[in-house]
Amino acid sequence: MEFCEINSFTDQLIAWQRKQGRHHLPWQINRTAYRVWLSEVMLQQTQVSTVIERYQVFLKKFPTVKALASASIDDVLSEWSGMGYYTRARNLHRCAQVVVTEYQGVFPSDPKLLETLPGIGRSTAAAIAVFAYGQSAAILDGNVKRVLARVWGIQDDLSKNAAVNQLWAHAETLLPHAPEDLVSYTQGLMDFGATCCTQNKPACISQGSITCPFEDVCLAKRFDLIKHIPLKVKKVKVSTVNIDWWVLQYKDKLLLEKRPHQGIWAGLWSFPESIDLPKSAKQLERQVIKHVLTHRVLNIRPIQVTLQRPLTKIPANCEWIELADLKNLGLPTPVRLFLKNLDLIHDDA
Ligand code: SF4
Repeated sequence: MEFCEINSFTDQLIAWQRKQGRHHLPWQINRTAYRVWLSEVMLQQTQVSTVIERYQVFLKKFPTVKALASASIDDVLSEWSGMGYYTRARNLHRCAQVVVTEYQGVFPSDPKLLETLPGIGRSTAAAIAVFAYGQSAAILDGNVKRVLARVWGIQDDLSKNAAVNQLWAHAETLLPHAPEDLVSYTQGLMDFGATCCTQNKPACISQGSITCPFEDVCLAKRFDLIKHIPLKVKKVKVSTVNIDWWVLQYKDKLLLEKRPHQGIWAGLWSFPESIDLPKSAKQLERQVIKHVLTHRVLNIRPIQVTLQRPLTKIPANCEWIELADLKNLGLPTPVRLFLKNLDLIHDDA
């Protein structure tokens, strides 16, 4: 076979999914739009093993889209703590509110309408439409792009719109015709990218138990291009930023600052980065914390101060928070870890 034929790819992927795919993930049970949407958003930038654990807890706290819409943003961010990329949590909350106010609490089934909701892109909209409503729609997340690019030997820069648009068109031609195959096919694409044609150790060049049905036709394999597809674009420059954390405690309260709604840790609670202190206040400098973000490395110098009397004036956006209430706040991961190390917040928080 010169290259993988469309029908053959689709049929083989469906057969592969039924035999070697994943069938027991929590979000595969009772596939409502709310449950599918939540899992898709969580899976966007978080590992499956973490999502399995956090998905159930999140659902317990917010069992319905209405419960999520009526929660406070602080409650949602708190439940999201540790999963990173907090824009997802803020969009989740806004999206739930739009679904309740504009769609009477029921997600629309049309992928085009789903795509208009906050935080829902074309691929997520398609996944919800397929899994919850049995619609025919193509997904194209990072894993799927890699699979299609490898099987068909596409060496274009997939950060460019033109290349991605072509891939979308290709993904649409691959959709199965029989409605009963849509779920297995879509799940198959997800499973195949996550477990078989992985970024660094695809099954065809590793010794795992999973086998690839496309080894004979995959152009990346045939022309030894696996390491070059998908094409890696130049990495963005990472800058280093030094900041101070002023960790002020007065009795059983900590001074925390609500971060602005833009930028790093937007809307979460952290420590103030500058402050006017009385001369008598004793400062204890803690070990520098290195925290790596996508484009930045933060060198954080925490300075701990235990006050004998309250400050006369505190910076804007700062509040004294009772230690017992810390667990209810949305805290960035390094703040939460730092507080755990000081034994000011506990593991069950
Ligand atoms: S042959 Fe290898 S690179 Fe090609 S689809 Fe299969 S696992 Fe991926």
